[in-house]
Amino acid sequence: MPDSPRPFRPRNLLLAGALVLLVGGLFLASSEQTRRKVELRAAELAGDVAIRVVAARSEGGTEQEAGHSADFIQIPIEVRKLADNVYQARGVANTQLITTANGHVVFDTGLSLQAAKQRRLLAEAVPEAPITHVILSHSHQDHAGGTPFWVEEGTEIVAHREYPEEQRYLKDLEDYFWFRNRTLFPFMPETPPKIGLFAYGGVVPTILVDQPEILRFEQGGVRFEVLPTPGAEGADNLCLWLPDQKILFSGDFFGPNFPQFPNVFTMRGEKVRKPIEYIASLERLIALEPEMIVPSHQDPIVGRQKILSDLIKMRDAVRYVHDATIAGMNAGKTVHQLMKEIVLPKELEVTQIHGRVSWAVKSIWEYYSTWFHFESTTELYPVPASVVRSEIAALAGVDALARKAAIHVDARRNVEALHLLEIALAGDPTHVAALETRLAALEDLLEQAEATFQNSYEMDWLKYRIRVTVEAISGER
Ligand SMILES: [Zn+2]
Repeated sequence: MPDSPRPFRPRNLLLAGALVLLVGGLFLASSEQTRRKVELRAAELAGDVAIRVVAARSEGGTEQEAGHSADFIQIPIEVRKLADNVYQARGVANTQLITTANGHVVFDTGLSLQAAKQRRLLAEAVPEAPITHVILSHSHQDHAGGTPFWVEEGTEIVAHREYPEEQRYLKDLEDYFWFRNRTLFPFMPETPPKIGLFAYGGVVPTILVDQPEILRFEQGGVRFEVLPTPGAEGADNLCLWLPDQKILFSGDFFGPNFPQFPNVFTMRGEKVRKPIEYIASLERLIALEPEMIVPSHQDPIVGRQKILSDLIKMRDAVRYVHDATIAGMNAGKTVHQLMKEIVLPKELEVTQIHGRVSWAVKSIWEYYSTWFHFESTTELYPVPASVVRSEIAALAGVDALARKAAIHVDARRNVEALHLLEIALAGDPTHVAALETRLAALEDLLEQAEATFQNSYEMDWLKYRIRVTVEAISGER
């Protein structure tokens, strides 16, 4: 792993304090209600400490270690009022609370480590009332993680029909995703939180919203509509619509930027999202003509006209990339040709900070056609090209390969250089000239990424590879 955990004694001390408070409090607590209060308070303390440690690590690291995702940890947990009856607790992910005359409705429950605090601050901002519904935009940990902190006797948990299956596979592969995420974001804790209220999973919805139906209910004078909108951040996405106020709670449907190209592909390796589902979901949202969008990351977006034109642009951009990929497949082009050729026309340009067009092309290709690219017999067998790299290195000579790679780097053909260097370093993993050339190629790719799309995942990956390479070089000196 690229970095080792730093000793942080105050954390141990505070965690111990929180634990003592929890155990002592539970022991002394006479009623169920008091026990719950103590549990929530202890969870808030422990969560606070954990977040502070992660925030300090993301700040303390070099620029190479931090990055786009580290910014989210710095967002203060505070409550703001977005409309007469709409409150939001900010954080890595936001939690929304809608008040009615007959109880409160909660939309998204945030990161488990921040949820106890978000819950307390929201409860302090509104009159005391039962939580009648917790509506979950999808099963990602940062949107559903705080659910156990909110659910009371009689609270309905509303989720998409696909929620249980999405939660199941995310839980089954939890360690796999965590390892990948932590490789990209080394400030994250070493392992996922797996104890008590902080652990991922275990949410059992009491109401499932089925495609394509809308769940409509009225409570205390407020009308609610829950719309299935799969395709953006998973098969189980849904949005909440307040028709009378024309406010759309979008969860993570739009990702962290608006408008943006969606993340059809995730670097941590989730299932590919279905592009046609995403387009259909956007059609549904366009028809609503929202006046305000409240995403569960970042700030609300206001203004009917701007929202409408941005929604249309996003739909058309994805439609364009989808149709161009299909046309290219039918014309017999390779996936690599299409990754290079398909670019958004000027009028459809949207930011690719979150999702990247060329990766969407590859994802759409593989979504429809799976992994067999019909190019080579070797694709069918468990013997990758890497198996014979060291033999090629022995034949060509590691020095010669490194020199040739350096010529490619000089001409900014960095990926060609990386191909050659994979062979060279298979022959000699400690070859300093080859490692230095790899560093130069990666740094130039990062510079180009920063100067063009600024895709956060591309930059995070390149920074990770740069860290590994720098370490390898210093180990050889
Ligand atoms: Zn999210």
